Amino acid sequence: MIFVVTGPSGCGKSTLIREVRERLGDLAFSVSHTTRPPRPSERDGVDYRFIDEKAFRRMVRDGRFLEHAVVHGHLYGTSLAEVKAKGRRGDLVLDIDVQGARQVRRRVPGAVHVFIMPPVAAELRRRLIKRHEDSPEAVERRLQNARTEVKAWKEFDFVVVNDDLDRAVADLEAVVVASRRRVAAMAGAVKPVLASFRKGRP
Ligand code: ADP
Ligand code: 5GP
Repeated sequence: MIFVVTGPSGCGKSTLIREVRERLGDLAFSVSHTTRPPRPSERDGVDYRFIDEKAFRRMVRDGRFLEHAVVHGHLYGTSLAEVKAKGRRGDLVLDIDVQGARQVRRRVPGAVHVFIMPPVAAELRRRLIKRHEDSPEAVERRLQNARTEVKAWKEFDFVVVNDDLDRAVADLEAVVVASRRRVAAMAGAVKPVLASFRKGRP
């Protein structure tokens, strides 16, 4: 199953995904390609695959992305190879923007879409500044884009407000656990139970 996690930059997506993956232990993370320069704390192949624009455009031309978009002035995309390799082993979480989420909705029926909301706009600014990873210009650009992004919240299946961190982690974990119990996802588990009822007298 694919989980799409979307929300304005700085709302806490990476933090929530990291915590929920630690708690559950069986949720893979889709490492995106991007033309954005790495932040001081980021590692190539772990947080993103950092590539130049020419290489990115070549991948687009060759149809190697499930989805891709220009976000805050840089190119970002989820490669089909990443989804195939990691999705084969189990559930996969994508941290992508609203435009990418729309493309995934069209191409992957059954994906679960979660929107992460900051508690209030001013807190988003505080978090972006506190993170110390983006220039003041980049912070302003991200805050401007957030105004548009939050309006898309109704397109999603679930909304998590990231006010108190522990509470938000528990909410996102609950979304994953509940989604895994949807009828469409339970066929494998139910099959042997049904078979046991066909084997004569219980
Ligand atoms: P995103 O991935 O959405 O851009 P991050 O996960 O990098 O956001 O979070 C941005 C900053 O906000 C980080 O410094 C993170 O530690 C902090 N943060 C995340 N969630 C909370 C929270 N609930 N309360 C306070 N700070 C938070
Ligand atoms: P950041 O530069 O803060 O890591 O990410 C900026 C925005 O790009 C975030 O909203 C993040 O979700 C989004 N993003 C990251 N990877 C992808 C991707 O592969 N595709 C799309 N469409 N957006 C992405």
